[in-house]
Amino acid sequence: MDDLLETRQLGAGYGDFRALSGIDMRIAAGEVVTLIGANGAGKSTFLKTVAGLLKPAGGEVLYKGHPVDGLPAERIVRQGIALVPEGRRLFPSLSVEENLMLGAYCGRPGRWTLDTVMNLFPVLRERRRAPATALSGGQQQMVAIGRALMSNPELLMCDELSLGLAPVIVREIYAALPEIVADGMSAIIVEQDVRLDRQVSSRFYCFQEGRISLAGESSQVSDEAITEAYFGVHA
Ligand code: ATP
Repeated sequence: MDDLLETRQLGAGYGDFRALSGIDMRIAAGEVVTLIGANGAGKSTFLKTVAGLLKPAGGEVLYKGHPVDGLPAERIVRQGIALVPEGRRLFPSLSVEENLMLGAYCGRPGRWTLDTVMNLFPVLRERRRAPATALSGGQQQMVAIGRALMSNPELLMCDELSLGLAPVIVREIYAALPEIVADGMSAIIVEQDVRLDRQVSSRFYCFQEGRISLAGESSQVSDEAITEAYFGVHA
């Protein structure tokens, strides 16, 4: 299978601080992979770097075989990579519908429209005129996912979808994932709940202190191996 995205020795940081080093990862078309690891391990930094929100401090990002590292974020979205950022980052003064429409500005055609997003999350149709701040956390997460889908990505990257949400809401959100990837979209998902990770992904990468400490098939890795890769041998 050809890789949709590949990073080679990718590094990134904030000022002089190197948050990420030597990241080799790949994802094929239609694949769902998860990123796990403790707080501060570098997962968000990785997603932000691929999305063009942070400039790489070394290495390459190849999308469909072509380098995209260092391109501005809007050009990366236009090529088909969308990010659901940590903390959702909705525009509080805009309505649900207006927030969703922001995702469509790049003009990529595809199956995701206001209508299909609202079919996926029917509560958003009911609340379409409400300001984003009037929504519950789970509903706001649905808007953030919907906004990313409105750009009709081929690669959807989701940063901590379950952050701050009750388990029942997390289940509801993840229940939409099979429908989201049904037509062959790839997804990279940061998720702290390792049991959930195994359910939704075929492969995983575990980050530790800015590096990949373990990668493999989600169904085959042992709990012990994950614990060690997650916390490190000195934990
Ligand atoms: P979390 O679950 O907490 O988001 P993470 O694995 O996504 O964890 P990152 O957010 O990528 O980790 O953080 C990696 C490292 O970079 C951490 O040491 C963090 O303190 C640092 N860092 C993250 N954002 C910034 C920033 N804007 N400025 C400076 N340092 C940052």
